[in-house]
Amino acid sequence: PIYLDGHSTTPLAPEAMEAMAPWWHAQVGNPHSPHLSGMLASQAVETARSELASLIGSDPQELVFTSGATEANNIAIRGIALAALEGGIGRRDIVVSAIEHKSVLSSASSLRSAGFRIIEAPVDVNGIIDISALERLVGIETLLVSVMAVNNEVGSIQPLADVIRIARAAGALVHVDAAQGAGKLPLDCAEFDLASLSSHKIYGPMGIGALFISSAASLRPLPVLFGGGQEAGVRPGTVPTPLVVGFGAAAKVSRTRLVADAAHSGRLSALFLEELRSRQVQFIENVSAPSRVPGSLSLRFPGNEAMSIIVKASDRISISEGSACTSGQITASHVLLEMGFTHQEATETIRLYFSRYNREADAMEAAAVLSAIVAR
Ligand code: PMP
Repeated sequence: PIYLDGHSTTPLAPEAMEAMAPWWHAQVGNPHSPHLSGMLASQAVETARSELASLIGSDPQELVFTSGATEANNIAIRGIALAALEGGIGRRDIVVSAIEHKSVLSSASSLRSAGFRIIEAPVDVNGIIDISALERLVGIETLLVSVMAVNNEVGSIQPLADVIRIARAAGALVHVDAAQGAGKLPLDCAEFDLASLSSHKIYGPMGIGALFISSAASLRPLPVLFGGGQEAGVRPGTVPTPLVVGFGAAAKVSRTRLVADAAHSGRLSALFLEELRSRQVQFIENVSAPSRVPGSLSLRFPGNEAMSIIVKASDRISISEGSACTSGQITASHVLLEMGFTHQEATETIRLYFSRYNREADAMEAAAVLSAIVAR
């Protein structure tokens, strides 16, 4: 099938695959070993760290490798809360947008029992955080403000400059889940205290991610796992050389192709919409174009359940629903509900992302497949 679900995961870049190849067998070495093999592995890890730092405008030493953005989000939120508790910092409010990824929302909720208050800032109909509401919710009790760069279900781009201004004015730390922002938008981590990244959203391998911790941050997260003290004591465990090398190579390609990738993705999604319209299919775009990253579409075909469309289309195209499917039970997406869509509208929503390796023919085929299903 044609893969159009780039918000879930992206195909591995050939450049990343090639860079990783020797590190699976020919070049053996634990990057923490003192011998030459270990040192070569360590050098490869540091080269990759520098590539990743270049993508987000950070210093390499401000990056800690993790197993993905889920773990980075857990360390950022739980680690900062622990540091506040241990450091005698009295602030107990954590403010998040209502449409954060579950790894942010659940990490934050897990802190309620430790005395933290979790405050969700509302979003508008386009999935953009309500800045005046945020202004009211952030104050002298706020320890951390966590807002994503780009939403993973609807592609909405968050006004991070405003978020930062509000958080700074209140003396709060800023965490940005940049899993869907990196490689799609120019990101400047110098403005954040913490940021989470995921390799498999930028055409790198699965199972690796990173947490940016600014050297200027007023508080450093405490570890949530304990072990050998790797990654500056923040994230213990052997750093997986092949995965890190692949992540670094993918970051390098993403940096050089940032503008070209966005133009390509945007062109394909526009072509897809044009073709769908020419086929006289009734559909509604959930998010207006300027609010979302190029290539990302959240659509519904009124009267058609998303799950039914996805299943019928699945041998030809891979798309996903705007709702999260938990252990076989379909629950409407919290993101769409928070944006003000009804339960029915949410369960009618499908999500597509045209990635670097999709072609025009994929967009045409997807429109043909979907219009045939909806017309049936
Ligand atoms: N945050 C966002 C915004 C995401 O899209 C994802 C992946 N769906 C994650 C966090 C989790 O990333 P990972 O798969 O690397 O744990």
